[in-house]
Amino acid sequence: MKPDASRIEALIHELLIEIGEDPNREGLLRTPHRVAAAMTFLTSGSRMNIDSIINGAIFTQETNSMVIVKNIEVYSLCEHHMLPFFGRCHIGYIPKGRVFGVSKLARLVDMYARRLQLQERLTDQISQAVMDSIDAVGVGVMIEARHLCMMMRGVEKQNSVMVTSSVVGQFRESTATREEFLALIGSRAT
Ligand code: ZN
Repeated sequence: MKPDASRIEALIHELLIEIGEDPNREGLLRTPHRVAAAMTFLTSGSRMNIDSIINGAIFTQETNSMVIVKNIEVYSLCEHHMLPFFGRCHIGYIPKGRVFGVSKLARLVDMYARRLQLQERLTDQISQAVMDSIDAVGVGVMIEARHLCMMMRGVEKQNSVMVTSSVVGQFRESTATREEFLALIGSRAT
């Protein structure tokens, strides 16, 4: 169910007052409206399901070579502070006769990223969704991201990158498969 925009606007109006702002000054007049629209979009993934995202774009392909999609941009909100974290996601999988349409992995990442998240959970959800959608032999996902809650506040570590990975199936069982994945994505966290 879509959030009630007028209710979010009222809450943001209250928030502005509470932090000492004047919600009637020119620059803030439409801020509650803009925040409501932004928050609705940034959490839209929590109101989607995977079938509507993939929408039939899974194709039969007799291959058992590893498929890699690198550098998928990730923008999400940390659930602890509701501040952005952002970076790149790399996905590798070994198909068992079925592969994804090219853009679908990026859509899948967006669906899980557009909600209040933990980077660790986001990484796990993506690997599990890829695994389940095509009954893959194995899946590996790595996300490298910077968290504004760390960069702007707290420890103020501006350059730290958090790296998470999740491996299932053959990627978990076989060191050689994991090494192939890491080599193909050129894993040196940057
Ligand atoms: Zn945070």
